Amino acid sequence: MERRKKKKGAAGVFLLLLLVIVLACLGILYALSLYSSALRQQAEADAALQRSEMENSLRSASAQASEELRERQEQEVREAEELCLSLKNSFLARDREELLLLVNPWNAVPEGYTPRLVDLGDGIWIDERAAGDLTAMLEACYADPHGSIPVPISGYRTQEYQQGLYDDKIRRLREAGWSEEDAPAEAAHSVAVPGTSEHQLGLAIDILDVNNSELDLTQSWTETQRWLSAHCAEYGFILRYPDGTSDITGIIFEPWHYRYVGKELAQKITASGLTLEEYLAQETE
Ligand SMILES: [Zn+2]
Repeated sequence: MERRKKKKGAAGVFLLLLLVIVLACLGILYALSLYSSALRQQAEADAALQRSEMENSLRSASAQASEELRERQEQEVREAEELCLSLKNSFLARDREELLLLVNPWNAVPEGYTPRLVDLGDGIWIDERAAGDLTAMLEACYADPHGSIPVPISGYRTQEYQQGLYDDKIRRLREAGWSEEDAPAEAAHSVAVPGTSEHQLGLAIDILDVNNSELDLTQSWTETQRWLSAHCAEYGFILRYPDGTSDITGIIFEPWHYRYVGKELAQKITASGLTLEEYLAQETE
């Protein structure tokens, strides 16, 4: 009886112990599950933070890259604009230099000078920069009741053509009684020595009145020359060899010979009352 009681007591203790162990195991499992859940949440939070930091860093890198690209593009545009401006200025400077080229008995056409010419018809060629203004001037002279019919007779000349004119002038002077020694110098007063004619630049044009084909003083009395000498500067031309200036220009009074220098300079030179020689000398003072 006593033994049976003891057995029952031991079984009760064992069951109790077992229960405690089971409860303890359950508790541990629950604690482990809580811990694992906390770890997962922490890992997810860390990952989200890392992703957000990465996105921010990418955004900032991309913003920096596009800012750098914009700055580089702006710099390239600025450089291209500066290059255009510098090219334009150098073209303008070259234009001005060429339009003011001094060619006279003491200053020859520069070696290798090659004008860019436009064909005006009837064998007359002129520098392309002068063509538009020349056409406008001739049309205005023709249209004006105080003008007449202007007839351009000579524009660009080659060295060979100028040589032919010069030789022909010497021949005619010799026929008129000039000596062989004196004829060339006399010829040079009215026909430029080859290599020293403005016509070789392509910037000069000889224009006559339709009613007078004489290359002499009477040309200045015609309606065409009166109109042209009064208005040529508006079209960029100057009367290159005015009356009473042959000691400066080296060429006799030629009321038919006009030189293109561009509108702005033509008006300045004409207003100054100076020959091209004097105007250029004054400019370099
Ligand atoms: Zn001429």
